[in-house]
Amino acid sequence: MPELPEVETTVAGLRAVLDGEMIVRAEPRRSDLRWPFPVDLRQRLTGARVTGLGRRAKYGLIHTDRDDVLIFHLGMSGRWRVDPAEIEKHDHFILETGAGRVVALNDHRRFGSLDIVRSGELDAFRHFVAMGPEPLSDDFDAKALHRAIKGRAAPIKAMLLNQSIVAGLGNIYACEALHMAGISPTLAAGKIGKPRLERLVIAIKEVLAAAIKAGGSTLRDFAAPDGELGYFAKDWLVYGREGQACHCGAIVKRRVDSGRSTFYCASCQR
Ligand SMILES: [Zn+2]
Repeated sequence: MPELPEVETTVAGLRAVLDGEMIVRAEPRRSDLRWPFPVDLRQRLTGARVTGLGRRAKYGLIHTDRDDVLIFHLGMSGRWRVDPAEIEKHDHFILETGAGRVVALNDHRRFGSLDIVRSGELDAFRHFVAMGPEPLSDDFDAKALHRAIKGRAAPIKAMLLNQSIVAGLGNIYACEALHMAGISPTLAAGKIGKPRLERLVIAIKEVLAAAIKAGGSTLRDFAAPDGELGYFAKDWLVYGREGQACHCGAIVKRRVDSGRSTFYCASCQR
């Protein structure tokens, strides 16, 4: 599943193709993915110029000179293909620029989404309205995290996956950051002191930044826009490493809560 670093990498790849370019073709090839495409998608994008690209949590943003923002989510299996040799059946939406470049949103499991909103209404978009700070922004610091989890008895791992506390931090990065900070995933969030929260915030920023730098990670079939597979998986310290040795010598464990796996080391995470 594409996580925040993959989305960041995807946006960077799309930026190189789309930024500043006129959209001469916007072609939905079906009526929906996870939910219906906006009915005026083609009309609002055709003839518009792309003025910038960005990311919010795991959503990619494509801004146009018509004060619209195309918002995409890659779901479980989504990826953008750049200048594909031919359009295939899982390419569900296509953009073509005046320069003749083509990008196709490919999503065989169809858990992705496309929305278009007015720029001024971006923060009010239904998936953004209750969203917490971006983990890589200065708004996300130990003070903000402490405020958000104060008095909460829920495990810190669950709190880190709560989008209203921090936006877009996925399961892999929550596991890795907790390991890096030496914090047990099951520890009651409200009981963690400020110095440990400082370490946790730094760890979150570090694991995300490292993954973005590596060009996005992959568990399965994610492809970056330039067609190269992501490749960060081998570098995880605990994620997916149940039964293997932690760097401290203890064995990495896995627990499952609400169908979600948590990988951790009971020896160096307290
Ligand atoms: Zn360990």
